[in-house]
Amino acid sequence: MGRLIIISNRLPFSLDREGDKVSLRQSSGGLVSAIKSYFENTGAQRGDLTGKMWIGVADFPQEDWNLVASSNTEGQDFSLEPIFVDTTVYDNYYNGFSNSVLWPLFHYFSSLAEYKNEYFEAYLQVNQLFAEKIIPLLEPGDQVWIHDYQLMILPHLLRQKRPDATIGFFLHIPFPSYEIFRLMPTEWKKALLHGVMGADLIGFHTYDYVQHFLQSVKMLLGVDNYFHNLQYQDRYIKIDLFPIGIDFNKFNQLSTDSEVDTIRNNIRSNLGEKKLIFSVDRLDYTKGLMQRLTGFEYFLERYPEWREKMVFILNIVPSRDSIPAYNDRKKQIEEKIGTINGRYSTISWQPLIYRYNHLPFKDLVALYQAADVALITPLRDGMNLVAKEYVASSLGRGVLILSELAGAASELNEAILVNPTDTSEVASAITRALAMPLYEQRNRISLMQRRLQEYDVFKWVNDFMDQLSTVKQEQQKQKVKILDEKTFTSIRRHYQGASNRCLLLDYDGTLVPFSRIPSEAAPDNAVRDLLTRLCSDEKNHVVIISGRDVSSLDRWLGSLPVTLVAEHGASYRMRNSSWQQLVSVSDLWKDEIRRVMQLFVIRCAGSFIEEKSNTIAWHYRNTQTGLGFSRSRELLNTLSQLIQNTTLQVIDGNKVVEVRIGGFDKGASALKIVNEMDPDFVLCMGDDTTDEDMFKALEGEAYTIKVNNGASAAQYTILSQQQVLPLLNSLIAPLAPERTSNALVENPNH
Ligand code: UDP
Repeated sequence: MGRLIIISNRLPFSLDREGDKVSLRQSSGGLVSAIKSYFENTGAQRGDLTGKMWIGVADFPQEDWNLVASSNTEGQDFSLEPIFVDTTVYDNYYNGFSNSVLWPLFHYFSSLAEYKNEYFEAYLQVNQLFAEKIIPLLEPGDQVWIHDYQLMILPHLLRQKRPDATIGFFLHIPFPSYEIFRLMPTEWKKALLHGVMGADLIGFHTYDYVQHFLQSVKMLLGVDNYFHNLQYQDRYIKIDLFPIGIDFNKFNQLSTDSEVDTIRNNIRSNLGEKKLIFSVDRLDYTKGLMQRLTGFEYFLERYPEWREKMVFILNIVPSRDSIPAYNDRKKQIEEKIGTINGRYSTISWQPLIYRYNHLPFKDLVALYQAADVALITPLRDGMNLVAKEYVASSLGRGVLILSELAGAASELNEAILVNPTDTSEVASAITRALAMPLYEQRNRISLMQRRLQEYDVFKWVNDFMDQLSTVKQEQQKQKVKILDEKTFTSIRRHYQGASNRCLLLDYDGTLVPFSRIPSEAAPDNAVRDLLTRLCSDEKNHVVIISGRDVSSLDRWLGSLPVTLVAEHGASYRMRNSSWQQLVSVSDLWKDEIRRVMQLFVIRCAGSFIEEKSNTIAWHYRNTQTGLGFSRSRELLNTLSQLIQNTTLQVIDGNKVVEVRIGGFDKGASALKIVNEMDPDFVLCMGDDTTDEDMFKALEGEAYTIKVNNGASAAQYTILSQQQVLPLLNSLIAPLAPERTSNALVENPNH
């Protein structure tokens, strides 16, 4: 049981003051009504949500709020917690870091970004103010949903103080490609990523933004994803796309509204037979207004047959006018409009009607309904709701021309998609749209309407909140498996009381960390010392069970009294005995596989082939992010077809694809040794896919421990390779009657 807590830069409320009387007005934005509806239809009924709260910066003075707070606020949908921020700090945080660094950079206007330290400091300061406000309010069971680029540090600040909190984060603007993101000072970009990664679920509008984010995380934090899942520090995090929808019915139902009808009829009768092109945008350089005007100008020039047969209503909504980058553009746009009208107007006709104002809702919808063409051509846009609203409002006709660089383009395929900087493409799209037959307009609009109706803003909220619960459940499952101090103490007791112990240890990724070059992964003194001490106890039988070849294992570990298993069991050396080879067949099969792998070495710089007696492996640990993984999927596919009807096996390992002779694996080898020994204590540790065979084979016979989190057949998990030696060292240390080591529960990544 808990509350839904929405956190955004601004509160969706304003205060009306008349003398001493102050009243609150809730805005009617899509997000507000979607959250209300989610709460009423799903959350409250499921019984896991008990209230809803909205936290954000107040745009009213504290004194006014005091009057509200002391008056009756019943009837409000949300309980409100305003944050009051000093005006200079707010200016540096909002106009500064948020809108003069993040906004331009994330929209690929890198030349407009102003990297000022005072901006970043104010950004940290305001995120901290949010955290200070929220932390004392948090109760167990609360679900926190943080919105947008102004609050990217906040998830981490909350996580620090409330490790178990349920936190979702959604970015409403694009996440740029790594090459753009990396332009920011290193400290800032790491802080932003680390900040966002405090959330459990991180949402973006499109698949591209998800990929860009994952790549930045990989490059800057060194964390790899597995199908959009990340293991960061000790938590599992999900990254996914949730393309925001609109309140479809709110727009669509106005088709029968008499007031909208009247406004629309007025617009149309003023136009006579002329066609109407319409666009509405905030005044923002990302909206591509200049390029749109240039495209329109070229259309008038290139297609004179349309002159006097159409009118373009360009509505610009005032926005962020205290930032010079915004204000300067207004003048340029107005000059351009003057030039076009001056050049093409006649006594009875003017091609462009320009308005710089906020539109009342019904006027906006009437214009959407009246427009024959909506011309929406941002240079970059996280989503672009206007495009969706135009489609939803349509009375079964009208053509949408949409920039392919708007997030909405990935859902609105039936629009005429254009590159907004391509003047002639924009011009020809306009003629095509104006001339489109009615049946084609209807077809396209209805396909898009269906899609928008199916995934409206209510579904969007539901989808995000459902995923957030799923992530939390998954984290809970994983937590259960993490080897805790109590379990480890009981394993230690069992170990100390046993007289015939078998310790099966994987080598790479378990006893030693992965190395960029496999031949350089020799054991260091700490590993050798530990193995020597383990072997010096005659009750212990240590087995190093590896995919390595005989010569590497022999070179590195041959002098120790341990059993060595090479190439997953193809060869073995029982302790104090000599090497035996289980498989000896012709090497001919390798030629074919090598040829394929060599092709992938050429196609994927940094990858290489490793050959062992019974295995041939393609390593991609040192390749470019993402490329290695996608090439490995292709290679797996090719190899699987190639080895059909043979005794070969393909293994998808940790940054390696291996082909080996089938019929033996680490599971069979481990089981054979354990059966022969008949021990009274078995411990088995490993990190890789091939170790899963051991975990499965030894189920019920051994303590199985997987190194690194992730799905596994092992009973327990430890979070990193760096914990392996401390764990084995404390296993053999004498057990103090009272206190036990807590080496396990510390995460070295912290
Ligand atoms: N809008 C508005 N006032 C107006 C005209 C439009 O509030 O005078 C709304 C419009 O209905 C849409 C939003 O502003 O919901 C603009 O969202 P979009 O995603 O298109 O662009 P953004 O302004 O968020 O970059």
